Amino acid sequence: MFADISFPISSYQVFSYKIPTRLRSKVFIGMRVIAPVRNRKAQGIIVAIKASSEFKGKIREIDSLVDKSPVLNDKLWGLITWLADYYNTPLGVVAKAALPANLSTEYEPRSQLYVKGKIGGEPLADRAKSQIAILNHLSTIDEFIPAGTLGEIVPNALDVCRKLAEKGWVELMEKPVIPDLSGLSLNLIHKEIRFTDYQEQALGQLMASMDRNKFSPFLLHGVTGSGKTEIYIEAARHGLKQNKSVIMLLPEIALTTQISGRFRAAFGDDVALWHSKLSQSARAWTWKKICSGDYKVVVGARSAIFAPLKNLGLVMVDEEQESAYKQDSPDPRYHARDVALMRGKIHDATVVLASATPSMESYYNHINGKFEYIHLPERFGGAKYPKVQVVDMIKESEETEVYGGIFSRSLLDKIQDRLDKREQIILLHNRRGYAPILRCDDCGEVSMCPHCQVALTFHKNGKFLQCHFCNHIQRDLPNKCNACNSFNIKLSGIGTQKVEDELLSKFTDASISRLDGDIIRSGLNISEILQQFSDGDIDILLGTQMIAKGLDFANATLVGIINGDTGLYLPDFRAGEKVFQLIYQAAGRSGRGRIPGEVVVQTYNQDNIVIQCATQLDLKKYYNICLEERQALNYPPFSWIVRLEVRGKSKSGVEVAIDQLKNRFKNIPKSIEILGPAYCYRGRLRDYYRMQIVLKSKKEFDPNGGKLHRYYKSIIKSNNGVNLKGGLRLIVDVNPVSLL
Ligand code: ADP
Ligand code: ZN
Ligand code: ZN
Repeated sequence: MFADISFPISSYQVFSYKIPTRLRSKVFIGMRVIAPVRNRKAQGIIVAIKASSEFKGKIREIDSLVDKSPVLNDKLWGLITWLADYYNTPLGVVAKAALPANLSTEYEPRSQLYVKGKIGGEPLADRAKSQIAILNHLSTIDEFIPAGTLGEIVPNALDVCRKLAEKGWVELMEKPVIPDLSGLSLNLIHKEIRFTDYQEQALGQLMASMDRNKFSPFLLHGVTGSGKTEIYIEAARHGLKQNKSVIMLLPEIALTTQISGRFRAAFGDDVALWHSKLSQSARAWTWKKICSGDYKVVVGARSAIFAPLKNLGLVMVDEEQESAYKQDSPDPRYHARDVALMRGKIHDATVVLASATPSMESYYNHINGKFEYIHLPERFGGAKYPKVQVVDMIKESEETEVYGGIFSRSLLDKIQDRLDKREQIILLHNRRGYAPILRCDDCGEVSMCPHCQVALTFHKNGKFLQCHFCNHIQRDLPNKCNACNSFNIKLSGIGTQKVEDELLSKFTDASISRLDGDIIRSGLNISEILQQFSDGDIDILLGTQMIAKGLDFANATLVGIINGDTGLYLPDFRAGEKVFQLIYQAAGRSGRGRIPGEVVVQTYNQDNIVIQCATQLDLKKYYNICLEERQALNYPPFSWIVRLEVRGKSKSGVEVAIDQLKNRFKNIPKSIEILGPAYCYRGRLRDYYRMQIVLKSKKEFDPNGGKLHRYYKSIIKSNNGVNLKGGLRLIVDVNPVSLL
């Protein structure tokens, strides 16, 4: 018997191995094995089992199995083979993403020695002081305690306990140390839930679908605060009653804390949390328990979509429009929302894509009847949608003669007002660092990262410039311009650190916290900050987009958006959609309790249609405009896109290779349009030059994308004719979330 094994390498080649007799009855397709590769051992996955092998060379033997029983059932294996084909990624690489290499069903947590005293052992010698001390201590306790804790009484407590056990004075017990799984959950709040009519109806639709046991996708469009999370929980409860399992996907850890806490409150130990911040032992333990079926509900980030649950009945994707669901690197560049739909299809499950601001794709799928639609148009408990005030910063500058200021007078007044009333404030500014750029006032030259086509950002705390793409740090600040030698160079622009400084100087009595990528990297605990805000110990929470979504704090009555225009003019077809969603979502953080909320949006583009619709909270109007635009320009959801990128350190190498690639586009099907080759917007990142060709295929002629799929695969199926030597790489990005 032979097995074909795929390893997590970028090659599509599979390798043949002999299955040793001792493993014959235990080996199945989809199992992970250890096998020799050259002079080392590597983990791979079995993709085929055969009676004979075509391979003519020397065939080696599989070494051992990673899991004693198969982890992948045929459904999950089906999903993995689909991903490999759809995202043009070797099976071994996909398998590695779905089944992280260091996890195994054989994981055993470390165990700890427990001890309890008993009566009637052999007499102890007087000089056995340590033994006597421990016995005396144990005689006052009538239960097993960790032997390690006796270290306070005598130094080598474990040895002493073992000796005492030999002499019959104590009982010993080994107990596994269960890793702390509470992780990021906030304190739990129990509350009485009585569903509103809208909520009842939504639940009715979902439960009916779950009872049918057929794949059915839903768009749950519920305004912020409409009770989507309560619906998730109740739908999951229904799933458990049907003896099914449930996956709840969340885009970011900042959100995970609150929602996972609410799941924990509802389901206790049936819930597993799955995200990148788990400790290695918690991760291994959680995974094993998911495999064994002890956990029925998995709440987690992107990769939780691969949780090896059996009998999956319900998959829910919160904030489904979030680009965090798309994996950028390593391969496969999958979109967890699309994988969720496919997994639901394979399992005959109900899939709920939920948001207050759906992606254009999902919104369109509802309009054309592909998704069932559930609308929750009202906030729960009569909480009103906030009042939005738009501040025209151009006019503000003219009136105050302060140019490039951070706060308008109106926002300052409102912050003061809330502080006086002991209400809380959330401020959004979607740029971390202190001042984004160092610019020459004479020629306009900006200090750029030497490795990327990206401006460096000034960080005040360490006084350095940093690239937010490759993390390059430049400690010597230039004192003159690179281009014209002028000394007239200035920090310009505003980052969250600068906003924080200004807040601290203006509101000296307020307690202010910042939440952004730098804070997270510095190791401060997000959930601690959120807990403090929730407890009312923080007055003003300032942060980047990570605070714009999902958070639910009843006493936060003012949201200020320092610069509503951030990202508006990025040359990407989703730029407008993203700005709209950010403003709309951030506004939704305000006034979630009894006290009505208010939002202030500062903008230099008050006539821009995105800003207008977002500040009027007019979603329908904006989505219709956006869809018309997408249709006119043949962008998703009206087309399928594949982006082919050539990346390499040699500029000319990249240019030649992308031209060679372009020359292979012959007999282009009618539905397909080809853009480029062109440099990406960020034409150089981490020392790699990047050029791309974008293929768009009109859905009208290519309803499920099959034509585009076959066509681009026929182009790249072998790299013949495209010189990809010399460290060049071809990156295939199917359904990219951005073209930057
Ligand atoms: P969303 O997820 O749509 O933003 P949430 O589920 O967070 O909304 O609901 C907003 C607030 O209203 C939460 O505090 C939630 O517990 C509460 N809530 C929603 N529905 C109900 C209900 N039927 N009974 C009691 N509280 C509810
Ligand atoms: Zn200059
Ligand atoms: Zn860089």
